[in-house]
This record gives sequence, C-alpha cells and structure tokens, in this order.
Amino acid sequence: MSKKIIIAIDGWSSCGKSTLAKELAKEFGYLYVDSGAMYRAITLYFLRNHVDWTDKAEVKKALKEISLEFIYNEKSEQSEMHLNEENVEYVIRDLVVAEKVSDVAAIKEVRKFAVEQQQLMGKKKGLIMDGRDIGTVVFPKAELKIFLTADNAVRVERRFKELFEKNPNITIEEIKANLEMRDYIDSNREESPLRKADDAILVDNTNMTAKETIQKVAKLAKQIITA
Ligand code: C5P
Repeated sequence: MSKKIIIAIDGWSSCGKSTLAKELAKEFGYLYVDSGAMYRAITLYFLRNHVDWTDKAEVKKALKEISLEFIYNEKSEQSEMHLNEENVEYVIRDLVVAEKVSDVAAIKEVRKFAVEQQQLMGKKKGLIMDGRDIGTVVFPKAELKIFLTADNAVRVERRFKELFEKNPNITIEEIKANLEMRDYIDSNREESPLRKADDAILVDNTNMTAKETIQKVAKLAKQIITA
C-alpha cells in the first residue's frame, strides 16, 4: 500500500514553486498549501489597518484579529486565501503587498502565528506546502524536500509575464527590484531565513519547462511513496 507523505518545496521567489506544488497535489490527490499566501494576507491586513509592525504590541494585537482560511474554489480549481472570511486570493498578489511582505514575514510573532497553523495542516500528511522555511522549520521531518532555483533573469521574466496579464502598467524593472529585495530580506533575516535544508534535493529549473520540473519531482515522490 502506498503511504502518505509531506512534500516541502522551498526556494527563491518566482522559480515556479506554486506551479510545481499545485500540479503535484493534483497528481497525488494531496492538499496543496501556499504558505506565502498566509504572509501576504497578514501583510494586507496590516496595510489596510495601518498596523505599525515595528511595534511588537501592535503586531500581537493585530494577529488576534486575523483569521486565515484556505477555501477550495471549484471554478478556479484551487484553494483560495480568505482573510477574515473575505476572499483575498487576487488582491494579495498585488505589488503593493509584495513590496512589504518580506518585512512582515521577518517578524518573529508573525512567523509563530503562521507556522503553528501550517503544522496543524500537516497532521494527516498527504500535503504539499511551498514557501521559504518549510523543509527547515515547518516540517523538518518531511519525507521529500525540494529546493527550487533558477537564474535571476529567468525568474524575473516568468513573474513579469504572470503579472503583466493582470496589470499591463507593470514594468520589468519594478518586478526585478521586488524579487531582488524579497530574496535579500528572506535569506538574510534572523528568523527562519531562506536556506536549503541539508537533506533537500536541489532542482535548478533554469533550462527546464514547468512540465519537466513536475515530472522530475513526481518521479522522486513516487519512489518514496511506493518504497
Ligand atoms: O511565496 P510567495 O512569493 O507568495 O511569498 C511571499 C513572501 O512571503 C516571501 O517573499 C517571503 O517573504 C514570505 N514567506 C516566508 N515564508 C514562507 C513563505 C513565504 O517568509 N514559508
């Protein structure tokens, strides 16, 4: 009988982590959790409510008012992020949120709040989660850990294509600056910095299509599931 596992996917911004995770979840019938969406939703709440996130007490108070939930949408065929019962799946992808999310995600209290919920989601296994600290902090015992990477220029191009469809005013320079800034903050912060777990498998998909990346990781997952 095949066993249920946890697949942790970490890596730099815009290297295709969510595309990979979504497709694997479909193939294996697993739950997919986009942990970045949680940090984005918290950031959206802080921005909308003018929370001064340099003030620990304000952060703690605000977190008590935040409820996050992933709800499956049959139409879009994906789980969407709901913040206090409002569907924020699309608004959290905005550059306004992307510009602040790494600052918010570096706060200890914010990470504790998100990680506790993420760990609960993994209780029954059969889960794929992507983010920056999934293999190192959230699920250090995950059966399969992938660290995804791709050349900078390729990642900028991919994110530009994705965001340009929604906002034709966006420029490639803005995207490049945002990715570089987020990667810098995410990998240099004190709390759970982005790094490859020692036992994670490095996958550089600079010269791979999304399909090839999915096939490679699906093969690795199958080997573990059927072992
Ligand atoms: O994955 P995504 O790009 O949507 O994540 C947005 C931001 O959330 C990241 O740049 C990072 O600052 C933060 N994040 C994090 N830990 C995670 C997932 C995301 O710090 N596990």
